[in-house]
Amino acid sequence: MEATENKQKSNKLLALIHFPRSHMVAATALAVALTLLLSLFPSEDVEAKRQKQVLELTLPQYPAAEEIFSEEIMAPELPWRQLTVKSGDNLSLLFQRAGLTDRDVHELVSSGKQAKSLTRIHPGHRLDFQVDEGGKLQQLRYRESRLRSQLFTRTESGFEARDENRQPDIQTAYREATITSSLFLAGQEAQLDTSLIMELANIFGWDIDFVLDIRKGDRFRVLFEEKFLDGEKIGNGSILAAEFTNQGKSFKAVRYAGKDGDSQYYTPEGHAMRKAFLRAPLDFSRISSNFNLRRLHPIHKKIRAHRGTDYAAARGTPVYAAGDGRVIASAYNRANGNYVFIQHGNEIVTKYLHLHKRTVRKGQRVKQKQLIGTVGSTGYSTGPHLHYEFVVNGVHRNPRTILQKMPKAKSIPSHQQQDFYSQVEPVLAKLDSYRTTQLALSEPGDSNVN
Ligand SMILES: [Zn+2]
Repeated sequence: MEATENKQKSNKLLALIHFPRSHMVAATALAVALTLLLSLFPSEDVEAKRQKQVLELTLPQYPAAEEIFSEEIMAPELPWRQLTVKSGDNLSLLFQRAGLTDRDVHELVSSGKQAKSLTRIHPGHRLDFQVDEGGKLQQLRYRESRLRSQLFTRTESGFEARDENRQPDIQTAYREATITSSLFLAGQEAQLDTSLIMELANIFGWDIDFVLDIRKGDRFRVLFEEKFLDGEKIGNGSILAAEFTNQGKSFKAVRYAGKDGDSQYYTPEGHAMRKAFLRAPLDFSRISSNFNLRRLHPIHKKIRAHRGTDYAAARGTPVYAAGDGRVIASAYNRANGNYVFIQHGNEIVTKYLHLHKRTVRKGQRVKQKQLIGTVGSTGYSTGPHLHYEFVVNGVHRNPRTILQKMPKAKSIPSHQQQDFYSQVEPVLAKLDSYRTTQLALSEPGDSNVN
C-alpha cells in the first residue's frame, strides 16, 4: 500500500543522513520519528530534513507511526488563514494579504447572489481563507459575528454558498438591588450592564420619573435573558419581567409577545406599560448617575410658586416630546429663552423652556420620545436645566398626580387574554420564586438583629 511504499522510501533516505555526534544518543528513538517525517516530506532536501530532526529532538514522546499516518492521510484538510477586516480594508486588499488576486475576488463575487454580502465587509468582520498548493482559493468563510457566517466552497461550476448561522443558548438570570446612591450604581453592584439598566428604566419610565422620583431605599428585581455560545456569555437578551419599588409603591412589568411577534411590556393585569406621556421628558441616563446630589434646581427654588418642574441637567442633554402631538410654538423670548410648546389632543399642552437648541418647527407633528431640543440655560436661568410644564385646560398640573387620571394606554384585547395569561404567568411566577427564596434566606437573621 501507499504507506508501506513511503516507509521504504524514507528508510532509504534515512540511511543517507549524517547525524551530528551529540545527537547520536537519541538516534534510536529518532529513527522511528524520522521514518514518519521523511515519509511525509519525501521530496525535501537534506538540510530541511536535518531541521526536522532537530525539531523532533525537542519532543518528549513519539506517537505511534500508524496514528500520524492515519491523521495526515485521512484528514487532508488545507490550513485556514484568518484575516480580520481593519478600517480602510477592502476585498481586494484582504485577498492580496491572503496571497490571492483581484481575479479571485471577481470570480467569487460574481459567483452568485449570496456572494454580494462580501461587499458589506466591515472592520471587525473576519475572512477565513483556504488556499490549495496551487494557490487556488478553495473555501472562504465570511464571519460577520460569532453568530453569523457564510461559507463559500469551490465546486466544478463556481462557488457554492451556505449560511452557517448559529443560535445562542438562552438562559434566564435574576438580579435585584436596593438603591443607595443612584440607579446606575445599584445596577453595577448587582452586576447589571448599563444597557440593561436603561432598558429597565425605559420599561418603567411612564410611571416613574427617573430624574426626580428616585429615592434611597428604592429597589428593583429583574428577570432577564443571557445569551451563551460554546459556554461563554456573549450578551444579554430581553428583560422578561421586573418589579420596581419607588417610594414604597411597587410597579410590575412583564414582557408579552403577541401573535404578530411584536413584544411589549404589560402590567400583570394586561395593561400596557407604555402610556400617553413620558414622566421625565429628557434623557435621564445623562443625569441620573448623580441624581441625589443635583436634584435641587438652580434658580426657581426661591419662587416655588412658579408652575413647572425643573430638571437640572448638563447642557446638551437631549429633550424629548413627552407624548405624540403637534408643535404649537418653537421660538425665543427673554424669559423662556429657547422654548417649545406641544399640543396633545384638545386639553393638554406640554412646555419646554431654557433650551440650548430647538430641533422642531411650529406646526410640526411629533412622536413621543422624539428629540425636540437640548437642555440649555437660555432666558431667565442661572444654570443649565429644563423647565417642564404639563398644562391641562390652561392650568399647570403635577404630572405625577394627573397621570393617574389620564386614560389608560392600550390593554390586551379580550380575545388575546387567554394567550397573554398563559404566556406571562409562568414568567411572573419565576420572578416571584426568587423573592420567596430571598425572604426565606433572610428571615432568621433579620428577626435576630431587629
Ligand atoms: Zn423652572
